[in-house]
Amino acid sequence: MEADILPSRICGTCTLCCKVFPVPELAKPAGRWCQHVAQGKGCTIYADRPQTCRDFYCQWRFSDDLGPEWKPEVSRFVLSIYAGTNSLAVAVDPGTPTAWQQEPYLSSLRAWSEAALAQGDQVLVFIGSKVIAVLPDRAIDLGEMKPGDRIVTLKGPEGYDVRLKPANA
Ligand code: SF4
Ligand code: SF4
Repeated sequence: MEADILPSRICGTCTLCCKVFPVPELAKPAGRWCQHVAQGKGCTIYADRPQTCRDFYCQWRFSDDLGPEWKPEVSRFVLSIYAGTNSLAVAVDPGTPTAWQQEPYLSSLRAWSEAALAQGDQVLVFIGSKVIAVLPDRAIDLGEMKPGDRIVTLKGPEGYDVRLKPANA
């Protein structure tokens, strides 16, 4: 995976993944800055950073199709593939919770959702523990997601629907 990173795509002054994602090894919750981040510089414990951090690269670093406006420090959200699926996760900085609703982002997210839903996948916006499904014509607020909850796509005569299934359902 590291081998697929585009040489021109460097994190530089971006550190947004160090805010939007949880880091279990550090008991760091989603949506709060890591205690080890140096703003605009990077990780102060880089050589000893947890495995969760070592394993992560955002989609902007892989894709030529995502221009400079998609760099997370500009867009204020981080694109990644949602673990164990082919769904697209849009992890938004809670300090700018409507960033994903701005253009050119929203039109692209809606277009991508059309293709994702047809394959049983989704485009999912995460703001802390809250999750929102983006559909081609609307967004569905799925509320708070708890460990073990699943997100499922349903298709009926009136089109697609996305629901949160609790772990015990
Ligand atoms: S969000 Fe992407 S570009 Fe920004 S620091 Fe993380 S991996 Fe680098
Ligand atoms: S340990 Fe370093 S790489 Fe990991 S979240 Fe904290 S600052 Fe970022």
